[in-house]
Amino acid sequence: MTKPYDFLIVGAGIFGSVSAYELKKKGYRCLVIEKREHIGGNCYTKSVEGINVHQYGAHIFHTNDKEIWEYVNGFAEFNRYTNSPIANYKDEIYNLPFNMNTFHQLWGVKTPEEAKAIIDEQVEKHGVKNPENLEEQAISLVGIDIYNKLIREYTEKQWGTDAKNLPAFIIKRLPVRFTYDNNYFNDRYQGIPIGGYTQIFEKLLEGTEVRLNTDYLKNRNEFDELAEKVIYTGPIDAFYDYCFGALEYRSLRFDTEVLDMENYQGNAVVNYTSHDQPYTRIIEHKHFEFGNQPKTVITREYPSDWDVTKEPYYPVNNSKNDSIFKKYRDLNKENEKYIFGGRLAEYRYYDMHQVFGSALNKMKRITDKNQSDQ
Ligand code: FAD
Ligand code: UDP
Repeated sequence: MTKPYDFLIVGAGIFGSVSAYELKKKGYRCLVIEKREHIGGNCYTKSVEGINVHQYGAHIFHTNDKEIWEYVNGFAEFNRYTNSPIANYKDEIYNLPFNMNTFHQLWGVKTPEEAKAIIDEQVEKHGVKNPENLEEQAISLVGIDIYNKLIREYTEKQWGTDAKNLPAFIIKRLPVRFTYDNNYFNDRYQGIPIGGYTQIFEKLLEGTEVRLNTDYLKNRNEFDELAEKVIYTGPIDAFYDYCFGALEYRSLRFDTEVLDMENYQGNAVVNYTSHDQPYTRIIEHKHFEFGNQPKTVITREYPSDWDVTKEPYYPVNNSKNDSIFKKYRDLNKENEKYIFGGRLAEYRYYDMHQVFGSALNKMKRITDKNQSDQ
């Protein structure tokens, strides 16, 4: 008997919504279920006092891939926002990412040659040839002063562990530049959708049946019966009932306040890089869209340990977790019914553009294969 849907899609974040859009375009019948009360996953934005609030932390779109940039621009107009966070270390203010402005603020140097000489000397003294963890990698890239003021304590707060226990790749996300350039990203394209992210998901899901407040794992047998295939974008360990143990994630608590003032901190993102504050960042949402509303909305971001009652925001990609993940991934090798994708199901520290890219690739492979099978 044919089932009512070709695809059941679990999760209305980027992976789920792009999948629904691409599959619907090819004539497949899709049902999207989402356990939260809204679409958009962690990219969801909501208007408060006329300001688009990034409900799950600052989301800045950036990519080097022209096709992905054009694809997202098909669903919203993007502004020219360039992420240039400020770091506050014990009330000293520094520019991020690490660039000539930061080096000048730290050491009073004015030329790249002077800055390089200081960093080289510190790397020579404290660095290691083959960095194996975040601490070694950071010191080898920028020396001990920047590590101590801008990296060590922030990283300990963010990840809840010593930087020696973390993989080196995490810190490689941040550029180090010997130019006076405060752009946090090296990518060619960057911006914020004017009017927020939610509109992108509304358009991706237009014409597709979406059931909110619906948890797949609470009723999976019934849901599996509804469709030929299931695209699952939730945590992979939960899908397999933690049979190889729980993967580790970091969670966050967002504390949002409306303030009766026009401009609280003068920048969208201020990182607090010492242990003096328990939060890592304060986001002032209006600055993502150059807003001039009379009020402002700020969010403090508090990292927290994860357990099954909390949202899993960041995979902790150390070797222990990566080997557990591989066991889960291998379970599905022989099974054509389930397709996994996105940050939680692939257990990867993906940015948005990477999830757009992986969903588009995976859907193309599926639809091309189905076409050639026919
Ligand atoms: P998600 O957005 O997590 O969507 C998965 C969806 O599945 C969720 O809505 C969830 O509720 C639903 N779901 C899970 N389990 C079930 C279930 N059992 N039943 C039904 N539904 C279920 N990326 C950038 O490019 N730039 C940034 O500036 C940036 N900032 C970030 C800041 C923070 C604080 C965080 C946490 C992430 C940030 N990211 C950023 C990454 C970005 O959020 C992700 O790349 C993207 O949201 C991943 O999309 P996804 O579809 O994989 O997952
Ligand atoms: N980081 C840091 N100090 C900062 C900002 C970042 O030490 O002021 C480190 C920290 O370990 C963090 C990593 O760099 O986890 C990646 O930073 P990014 O801003 O990319 O983190 P995300 O936006 O994904 O939370």
